[in-house]
Amino acid sequence: MCEKCWADAYQWGYGDQAEEYQRLLLDRKARPCTPREQAGQWWDEDKQRDSRQDMKPESSAPEGEGAG
Ligand SMILES: [Zn+2]
Repeated sequence: MCEKCWADAYQWGYGDQAEEYQRLLLDRKARPCTPREQAGQWWDEDKQRDSRQDMKPESSAPEGEGAG
């Protein structure tokens, strides 16, 4: 998810923001936004990275007691 393109899509997209967002991504495929631009408000100055990457989806598969 690119915060910059999403914001641009909101500004320029008069119809569907999501649709405009996809169009912008394709448009900028050759020259993508910088990590900082993509992170937007989520940019972590200390780590110099998108802080959203720290939020991992909880996926803890319980150890199955299979017959062995
Ligand atoms: Zn972007």
